[in-house]
Amino acid sequence: MTTPQVLLLDPLPADADAGDEAVLASLRFVPPTEPILTAFDAGAGRGDGVFETVGVSGGRARGIDAHLARLEASALKLDLPAPNLAQWRRGVDTVLDALPPTGQASIRLVITRGTDPAGPPTCWLTGTPVASDFPERTDGIRVVMLSRGYANDVGEDAPWLLVGAKTLSYAINMAALREAKRRGADDVVFTSTDGFALEGPTSSLILRQGNTLVTPAIQHGILAGTTQADLFNFLEAEGFECVYRKISAGELRRSDAAWLVSSVRLAAPITAVDGTAIPTDLDLTARMNAALLA
Ligand code: PLP
Repeated sequence: MTTPQVLLLDPLPADADAGDEAVLASLRFVPPTEPILTAFDAGAGRGDGVFETVGVSGGRARGIDAHLARLEASALKLDLPAPNLAQWRRGVDTVLDALPPTGQASIRLVITRGTDPAGPPTCWLTGTPVASDFPERTDGIRVVMLSRGYANDVGEDAPWLLVGAKTLSYAINMAALREAKRRGADDVVFTSTDGFALEGPTSSLILRQGNTLVTPAIQHGILAGTTQADLFNFLEAEGFECVYRKISAGELRRSDAAWLVSSVRLAAPITAVDGTAIPTDLDLTARMNAALLA
């Protein structure tokens, strides 16, 4: 396993049509132990920034177009300068080239507000090899349902909550995962105060109800998941009906199968909700993960 890679990116304006030489000159590998932030960076001090985590398998960054589009959408929601997507794509390719050609890895893209709100954002990418045998993909995960503390339509009245942006402020999500561990579970399904199942702290929720797969619609206070979107394409081609809508918390307990899905862990079947076992569909899970890794 190679060491993690860290690539600094000197941001170009979004509309700059820079040649390859200029783009390459804006990228610089640094040793993983080298400090890259000042203590005054808004990303470190306030979690003020955005990120993406991209799964890598077979030398390919899965769903890179969707991740770049979401990075841009998140940056714009935070009034950060729009990223130059060609430059970021080149950054991803550069990190990919430095990772082992086989096996699985994750690439993280980070933009912080930097040290001066009027100045350039701080930008970097990391590449980290990961173990390819995530036991959760076959053994499943036990979840608890935890309130996120607001209604599913909160984003409409309070856009400053940045619902749907992938911000660096994940302290709440990590706290929820610790609470799950305290309750003897592995992961979380957040619920809205008006009784809807939303998403996990780092994953999207998919339920199977007979031949129909359902996931919460993104207007209901969640992040648009790239893995969920890829899976819906696969599942539709397999003949399933795929639906975006509100999902009541009770529907999760009554589903024929349920998963939390995300870019690196992929599809993890939910085996229990708040201590009560629910059915799993291990055959479909295996096919979903094989499709994502193909
Ligand atoms: N929802 C949240 C809150 C997340 O943090 C993530 C990923 O980290 C997801 C959903 C799943 O998104 P993706 O499938 O693009 O990894």
